Amino acid sequence: MSEQFEHVALIGLGLIASSISHAMRRAGMTARITGTARSATTRGKARKLGICDQVFDTAADAVRGADLVILAVPVGAMAAVAKEIAPVLEQGAIVTDVGSVKRAVISAVKPALPEHVHFIPGHPLAGTEQSGPEAGFASLYDNRWCILTPEPDTDEGALTKLAAFWKALGANVDTMDADHHDLVLAVTSHAPHLIAYTMVGVADDLGRVTESEVVNYSAAGFRDFTRIAASDPTMWRDVFLNNKDATLEILGRFTEELFALQRAIRTGDGEHLHDYFTRTRAIRRGIIEAGQDTDAPNFGRDEEDDG
Ligand code: NAP
Repeated sequence: MSEQFEHVALIGLGLIASSISHAMRRAGMTARITGTARSATTRGKARKLGICDQVFDTAADAVRGADLVILAVPVGAMAAVAKEIAPVLEQGAIVTDVGSVKRAVISAVKPALPEHVHFIPGHPLAGTEQSGPEAGFASLYDNRWCILTPEPDTDEGALTKLAAFWKALGANVDTMDADHHDLVLAVTSHAPHLIAYTMVGVADDLGRVTESEVVNYSAAGFRDFTRIAASDPTMWRDVFLNNKDATLEILGRFTEELFALQRAIRTGDGEHLHDYFTRTRAIRRGIIEAGQDTDAPNFGRDEEDDG
């Protein structure tokens, strides 16, 4: 294994951070793991589960002496956490985050951090609809992509070391510009989540009339929407508030396509519908061929989803 970190601090101890801890231990990393969460309840759960070698009551105490600090809190909480830890960060430490949006996190975090640390934003494209320290598991990042969005002045050595860390957790690593990341994720994750939330909301309204049908016959597509729509409300509120432009751009295009399909249904234009569905089917095949999903009837996603 390449050069390793000696002390990793996890700020926020939910699904993403606890999975990092499990995957680090599975990889045989010997780094000391410290951490903190906002509430005493979560800190207590993390202590009981042994997710960290030591759980501190404050973020400042958790990062003291760490050579890698991972911010794993909701996107809207990143700025406050960065301000709190800034005065005690080690010289040369790498600070990264796992937030689902990148440009807004850079704007919130970078100005708060001292010059003597390396800030390299990141986003592992792996998650489930579960939250909290008990939701984490060691294989969450296996064969998933972790996108790092370095700035032009990012130190190459620090970037290589962070990329090696994620690879050791099982992930594939790619780098990309933060704005491009936000647009790509608006297409692949953020807009689809909003559509799932909407569809479940619509079914809920209908459910008042036909409750048993909605529940009993949900396997035909709707069940997958309900799983996505069960994702953490705080996390997703912050995603939409912080990736506003890209999400609105994609939703605008989505609405146009939806209107076109609506018109095809109304006018009986079967050719349009068939051509459209043939094109989308090919995309699904591409995802399976890339090893990012399975052909199993349940989509192989009892546990996994991308956030
Ligand atoms: P989670 O399970 O809900 O955990 C969030 C953690 O952050 C909790 O420990 C929470 O503490 C803590 N927290 C919240 N505000 C805080 C603050 N101001 N100071 C310190 N700790 C604070 O969430 P998660 O799924 O791990 O998500 C964490 C980050 O990963 C988010 O930025 C999200 O966008 C990103 N992400 C999520 C997914 C996914 O699918 N879940 C995938 C990729 C990236 P309490 O429990 O005490 O409130």
